[in-house]
Parts: sequence; structure tokens; C-alpha cells
Amino acid sequence: MRASLFFSLLLIPSAAFSQALPDQVLALIAANQAWTLEQQRSICEIPAPPFKETARGVEYAKRLKALGLVDIRTDSEGNVISRWPGSGAPKPVTVFSAHLDTVFPEGVDVRVKTSGRRLTGPGIGDDCRGLAAVLSVAKAFQEAKVKVQGTILFVATVGEEGQGDLRGVRHLFTKEMKGQIDQFISLDGTGYGVTARGVGSNRYRVTYFGRGGHSYGAFGMPNPAHAMGRAIARISDIQVPKQPKTTFNIGTVEGGTSVNSIPIAVSMEVDLRSESATELASLDERFRAALGAALEAEKARWPESRAALELKIETMGLRPAAEPADSLPIIQQALAAAKRLGIPVFATRSGSTDSNIPMSLGIPAVTLGAGGQASGAHSADEFYEETADSYKGPQMAALLLFSLHPPQ
Ligand SMILES: [Zn+2]
Repeated sequence: MRASLFFSLLLIPSAAFSQALPDQVLALIAANQAWTLEQQRSICEIPAPPFKETARGVEYAKRLKALGLVDIRTDSEGNVISRWPGSGAPKPVTVFSAHLDTVFPEGVDVRVKTSGRRLTGPGIGDDCRGLAAVLSVAKAFQEAKVKVQGTILFVATVGEEGQGDLRGVRHLFTKEMKGQIDQFISLDGTGYGVTARGVGSNRYRVTYFGRGGHSYGAFGMPNPAHAMGRAIARISDIQVPKQPKTTFNIGTVEGGTSVNSIPIAVSMEVDLRSESATELASLDERFRAALGAALEAEKARWPESRAALELKIETMGLRPAAEPADSLPIIQQALAAAKRLGIPVFATRSGSTDSNIPMSLGIPAVTLGAGGQASGAHSADEFYEETADSYKGPQMAALLLFSLHPPQ
């Protein structure tokens, strides 16, 4: 996940849980701390590059089965879906999930190095910690023979990270289980953050094409690199609000063949983001206007040239923004769970996670940290550090599940 910290004021209600079964589950999760860490380590040594999560998904399904989950299946997108059997009435349906994929391509060494409390390896925090925490809750449910109202689906999604563009969770909510899911909890990364708002992002690859030619001999025609320079200058000057946080970035620039050639094509990759769908749409509109104006300005610079200059905008990813209010019960219940465990969470934050999809559909959703500490997410040096109270991550998730699904 990617989180941008934006704090807002909270109203934390007093917790009102029926205690015996939840207490037993909390104790089991704490007692299973070492087991959870071993799940995290071992699942992480199975590669899960974008679009190639199958091997990890197969192993995850096996572990869910061993923990008593039923109706286990892998959908056509690759999501692993299972059901906790100890439930009564079918409704409400909650999906409780973590994501299988990493940002790392095939061939990256995924062996985990352990040194004291520190585990180093690609994806060890994001999201092997979340995957392990989901299993930790399942194990405690199994050991305590938990029976709850409604239906809890334990799920591992594919395609959460950038390139995947939330394809797993999107498939789940728009096809596989369309209209059937009432609420969504995702465990993503470490710590104890409560992500309650979805940062939307629009990502594009922009290319300017021209005829190209010799830098000296063909001089006098529109130049795609110059057009793109004009576009970059215009985009750089776009004004965006600080609140709701709205950003733009030109992340890559490439093209051309040699110093003495007018390029045939140059391109750039652009990331636009906002917590607000309205602001994101407004930024998108101004971004497109800047691209078009740059094209026209470069053409106008060479009125006598007949050489064409064209612009292509390809969509790389669209993640919807969503700003549910903090007063939403699932958010208040998550904060109440944190409070009960003595976790110092005083504010919600916004992020770009699997929850973006349900949030944008108006379905209550929250993404929680899964405990422990980590650094260097999305880098080869990513490490996770086991803290004395890392079990509070899965505990917080379990308490939230109990508040959404009271024990029977
Ligand atoms: Zn993640």
C-alpha cells in the first residue's frame, strides 16, 4: 500500500463488545505470535510478481484449508476466496483480505534473511505481513471454534500494486461477487494505521509523434521533444489544492535516437492523484488541456511546415478516489478496537489500497496495518522488524470482525 498521511479529527466511541469469545481469540493470537512470523517468512519466499501470483495463491489456499476455511476457490482473476464455516445467517458478508502480489519482477531473489528480530526480503512487510495476519486470525478462530453472525470470507487478492491497478479487488466487486459484499477489511503493510479514505490516481503514458529527420537538414518542422517540453512546462505550473491533497508527477521521460536527429517519438509517464474525486477530475482535465495546448503551440511555431505532429494518451491505471466520512461505523469500530488494545491510533489516514474499490462503490471499507514495523517498502532492501506487540495487528482485525459479526 501507499499511504499519504492526512489526519482528521475523530470521535472514538466507547467499545461495546461481548467479551468471552473475543478475549479467547485475542489470547490465542498473542500466543501464536511466533507462528504468525513464520507464516510471514515462509509465504514471502514464494515469488509473487505482478500478474504471476499463482504459486503463492496455491500455497495460501492450502494454508487456509489447513486452518478450517471452506468453499476455497481461486477465481478467474486469481483471487483466493474462502469462507469461515462458523457462521449463521448469510448476511452480512464481510471480505477480510490481504494482497498476494508484490511490486518485484520475476527473477528477484525472494529469500528472506533473518537477523535477530529483523527479516529482510522483497514484500516482507507489504504485504506478507498482511497475509500472515489474516492466517493468524484464521488460526485463532479455528482453535476457539468461533461462531459468528453473518458470513466472513477470508480472501487473498491479486494485482493490488501499481501495475496490477487493483485488478483483483476490482474483479471481486464488479464481477465475481458483484452486489454480494457488504463490507471490506484489508490488512496491508505494518504498523497500526487505519486507512479510511482512498487516494485516487490516474496514470498515463503520453507520446508525441512527428516525422523526425536530420537536426540540421530537416530543421523547421515540429519537434516531438519540444512539444513535450512545452507540455511539461504547462503541467509543472498547474495549481492544486493542499487540501484535499492533490498531486502530479512526471515520473519518466524518454525518446529520441541521437543528438543530431529530430525525434520521431518521445514519451513520458504521468501520475495524477487526489483524495477527492472532484479534484482528480479537475486536475485530469487541466492536464489534458496542457497536452493539447503544447501540441498546438509547437505546430504554430512552424507554420510553414507540413510535417505532422500527433499526441497519444494511453491509460496505465485508474484508481478511484473516495472520501467516506470518519463517522462511518466500520471506521469508528476499527478505532474502538485500536483503543481497546491500547494502540495509539488517534486519526485516520488516506491511502491507495484495495479498499479504494469498495469505498468508491459506497461499500464500507477500511485498510488496517497488520502490526510490527517495516521500512523500505517497494525496494529491494525492504525489511520487517518484529515488535513485542506485533500480534496487536491481527488482534485489531479480529476485534473489528467481532464488532461486525457478533459471536453467536
Ligand atoms: Zn500493499
